[in-house]
Amino acid sequence: MQTQVFLVDKDKPNRKILEKAAAILTGGGLVAFPTETVYGLGANGLDAEATGGIYRAKGRPSDNPLILHIAEQAALQQLVTTITPSAKALIDQYWPGPLTVVLPRAAIIPDVITGGLDTVAVRMPDSVVARELIALAGVPIAAPSANTSGRPSPTSAQMVITDLGGKIDAVIDAGPCTVGVESTVVDCTTPVPTLLRPGGITLEMLIATLGAVDIDQALMTKEAIPRSPGMKYTHYAPQAPMTLLEGQPDKVAEALRQQVDKAIAEGKTVGAVVSQETAVHLNPAVKAAIYGLRCDAATIAANLYAALRYFDEQPVDVIFAEGISEKGLGLAVMNRLRKASGHRTIRA
Ligand code: AMP
Ligand code: MG
Repeated sequence: MQTQVFLVDKDKPNRKILEKAAAILTGGGLVAFPTETVYGLGANGLDAEATGGIYRAKGRPSDNPLILHIAEQAALQQLVTTITPSAKALIDQYWPGPLTVVLPRAAIIPDVITGGLDTVAVRMPDSVVARELIALAGVPIAAPSANTSGRPSPTSAQMVITDLGGKIDAVIDAGPCTVGVESTVVDCTTPVPTLLRPGGITLEMLIATLGAVDIDQALMTKEAIPRSPGMKYTHYAPQAPMTLLEGQPDKVAEALRQQVDKAIAEGKTVGAVVSQETAVHLNPAVKAAIYGLRCDAATIAANLYAALRYFDEQPVDVIFAEGISEKGLGLAVMNRLRKASGHRTIRA
């Protein structure tokens, strides 16, 4: 299959082009499209056959449910049996935006979407391209990240092509994503809403709106079984084994420098995913993917997956990654780095 590439402006997308892409979706095809978080791989969310194609193209395990994307708040009603007060509060505050709510599913939703769960995850993205595409399709669009399962999510159309070129009908290219990490997933069916996946809407923002938020234990320890099925899989992983260094910033930078020097002395080719501040003190032999300034979690989030994918073209034997503070977007960044490293961490 030849994957068509549709170029559009991110703020004023050409309607004729989006109509073409929407027609592919309503015809049962697969279209990757940009959102503010990452590029998604879309299919008609009410068509079990079409959504089955998402799992095949990505190589995604069938028990990992998909998020349904809608173009307006009113579309939520037909997808769920109740909108709980916590969901209502979150939606009023953060939609459109990088927030996914989990609610009891309505009967029209195919089992393939929910991985057999009795709940469904729904999000209304902020991206104009995404919302206009969904509105033109006239159906909720199931859209996981448009990467091969296990690989870092794509934040550009080029990354989508690298993973899925030839396997999907089309990709809409509107340039890089602004947030760079996936949406925050909150289970709104529990008495106290539960954070299942940290993302673009921070824990601090959730607490400001809801008062109290539980955190899924699986986010804190690698032993607990996650309540968001997708979180149990190794994810976001670059091609070489990666070790994450965590702790106080100066100690992390120093420990990372030592690990790098030791690996180079052993004759290894070494990669580092690091801040600008740390990069300048590293052995010049290291291949460094710089994710931004240490204190700027928003920029780090936006650059994170490009940094992890940098080692696709720059093969290395081992990678060391510099951890950051878990404040704000840092929690989502650290969650992805821990998973990308398969929980191979060193406390500095
Ligand atoms: P992706 O779209 O690739 O970022 O993955 C979707 C994420 O949403 C996965 O981590 C899923 O486990 C999670 N998710 C989707 N539906 C549900 C649900 N009904 N309950 C809990 N988590 C869900
Ligand atoms: Mg994903």
